[in-house]
Amino acid sequence: MSHHFQLRSSVLPLRFFPGGLGARLSCNEPKHLGNSSSVGVAVASPARTMQRHQAKATAKEVGVQETAQGSAALGWAARDASGVLSPFDFSRRAQKDDDVTIKVLYCGICHTDLYTIKNEWGTAMYPVVPGHEILGVVTSLGSGVTKFKAGETVGVGYFLGSCRSCECCGNGYENYCSGMVLTSNGIDREHGGEVTQGGFSDVIVANQDYVVRVPDGLPLAGAAPLLCAGVTVYSPMMRFGLNAPGKHLGVVGLGGLGHVAVKFGKAFGMKITVISTSPGKREEALERLGADEFLVSRDPEQMQAAFGTMDGILDTVSAWHPISPLFALMKPMGQMVFVGGPTKPLELPAYAIVPGGKGIAGNCVGGIRDCQAMLEFAGKHGITAVVEVIKMDYVNTALERLEKNDVRYRFVIDVAGSLGSTA
Ligand code: NAP
Ligand code: ZN
Repeated sequence: MSHHFQLRSSVLPLRFFPGGLGARLSCNEPKHLGNSSSVGVAVASPARTMQRHQAKATAKEVGVQETAQGSAALGWAARDASGVLSPFDFSRRAQKDDDVTIKVLYCGICHTDLYTIKNEWGTAMYPVVPGHEILGVVTSLGSGVTKFKAGETVGVGYFLGSCRSCECCGNGYENYCSGMVLTSNGIDREHGGEVTQGGFSDVIVANQDYVVRVPDGLPLAGAAPLLCAGVTVYSPMMRFGLNAPGKHLGVVGLGGLGHVAVKFGKAFGMKITVISTSPGKREEALERLGADEFLVSRDPEQMQAAFGTMDGILDTVSAWHPISPLFALMKPMGQMVFVGGPTKPLELPAYAIVPGGKGIAGNCVGGIRDCQAMLEFAGKHGITAVVEVIKMDYVNTALERLEKNDVRYRFVIDVAGSLGSTA
């Protein structure tokens, strides 16, 4: 999700989480090549060439410079709104002085990837290589790189560029910069206007300022989802004081984001109540994740019993759902934070917030500083996601299962174990 509100006239209102330019390009490429486990297949891509061409033309209009082509990369891409991924050969840009080249080891599958590849936000620029929960190892670096060494374990999250000169960038909120460059399905103006391709690929090149260090000791596959899911819940918890010991936080939706929020909340010393549509998640929420209470949101009696008890709520739900009953769970002046990006607008009657003076905010991932702080905190407290590690040839099945809410709680692709690496 871009999770970013991009200030472009071409952006549709639907684009809750915009990404790159608003250009949407048609694609006549052949569909799905099957769930092949053979990853060495070069996919002919005349339509891709055409798209790149169009994307560059668009970028030129905004005054970008072309850069030299870089190295070969292999990823899995969606070619159209079916969202089916298949092997895809492409190029990574040349490494510049202040860049690191990263061999991708693991990449999480975020619900945002699903919206993007199916063009549910109307932002897809096919072919789309998804993936923005990237964990890898530095294999090479430019002469100006001071922050990282070869062999270090690092991460790249939802974005890998921003304007560096606006108020948001100056204050460490690159995630709210209107020039933010999404890691996948974004337009990289600084680097030739290429459409960016994400972490479902063997290698990525990124400027050192948009790369974070992964603390030693964290299991790698479980750490990958922290790069998006982790920072997306940690950042608003810090920003809205929903990290104070003893405070009561409700977490709506026990998925990739929600289950990590429970872990951070418990590490902060909070009381955590999960609010879920899935009664089958109760036991795990309480026993494995350490939540204090579990409410089934479709059970009015359980909801009534928790009336007015929470200091804040983090809503991570990916689909339309009733929200008035959630506001009723909060104490007066409680703070609601939405991080989910349902494509259909939510309904908010004024009476749900006016009488109790309740607050509403949104949050889109987090800045690089927050992301690094989140990782340090996770390292100290041993926080990782609960993951189902898969090979790339399972990715289409995983995406179908994610759509059906059938994952506990994050799929992570063993990218290096599936694709090898050219890095
Ligand atoms: P996810 O793993 O699919 O989790 C979403 C959860 O929402 C599900 O586990 C389910 O929890 C609940 N849910 C699903 N359908 C529902 C429905 N019809 N009614 C009520 N609850 C429902 O997704 P995710 O990767 O955590 O992402 C969650 C949302 O956040 C997505 O919209 C994603 O695009 C967005 N996102 C935002 C940011 C940001 O920066 N703001 C970053 C990443 C992702 P229960 O089974 O417990 O009900
Ligand atoms: Zn994400």
